[in-house]
Amino acid sequence: MRKMNSNLLTIIVSGPSGVGKSTLLSFLPKEEFYFSISHTTRPPRHNEKDGEDYYFVEEKTFLEMIERGDFLEWVKVHSYYYGTSKGEITKANTLGKHLVFDVEVIGAGKLKSYFGEKAVTIFIAPPDFETLKKRLISRGTESEEKIKERLERARFELSFAGFYDYVVINDDLERAKERLFSIIKAELCKPSKVFAKLKDLF
Ligand code: ADP
Ligand code: 5GP
Repeated sequence: MRKMNSNLLTIIVSGPSGVGKSTLLSFLPKEEFYFSISHTTRPPRHNEKDGEDYYFVEEKTFLEMIERGDFLEWVKVHSYYYGTSKGEITKANTLGKHLVFDVEVIGAGKLKSYFGEKAVTIFIAPPDFETLKKRLISRGTESEEKIKERLERARFELSFAGFYDYVVINDDLERAKERLFSIIKAELCKPSKVFAKLKDLF
């Protein structure tokens, strides 16, 4: 649990593949936000680095980690395993930074159960399905078959949007960024966060 530094935020972000989660989250300053690095069996994309974007591991290693109880949560989606290791929370606490998770909806539910009130959940949605499809294709990182698989999964992911604290429509990137920043600013003004910072006043 995040006992220390309770003025720090725990942010769980979900949204269908290709909606722009990574793009939007890249606007958050690295000096203040720690982005949980998941383990995955998916092969790296051309621009991805091991230990930065993900820890890219063999399926055997991933299954051993499950056996050892190394994960806070894990899932198998788009034919690959993805999981959040317990060590990621410790890292964020040690660094004294806000903690950000980019996870699909099932993992998000598990993380929310773990963190409870401490966590804020944000769903990133596309303006429409056609736009999502175009973005996924224009990113050029997946084969036609994989894009089809991700679009099928997108319908399932979108059906969970109503369970999140906030929904950010990523239509115009600047506007979506403003929405995301507004949520974070508002969350930092919650009494629990302010009191933790100003102990001698309250
Ligand atoms: P995700 O992390 O949700 O899978 P990405 O951040 O990789 O999605 O974005 C998918 C593609 O859509 C990328 O090529 C990105 O540059 C583009 N993109 C993201 N947001 C917007 C936007 N608001 N308008 C147009 N293109 C966008
Ligand atoms: P991608 O292959 O596009 O990087 O990620 C595919 C999906 O897996 C995205 O929805 C992303 O949010 C999700 N994901 C990434 N890491 C994790 C994780 O550790 N746990 C869960 N549950 N989902 C993850």
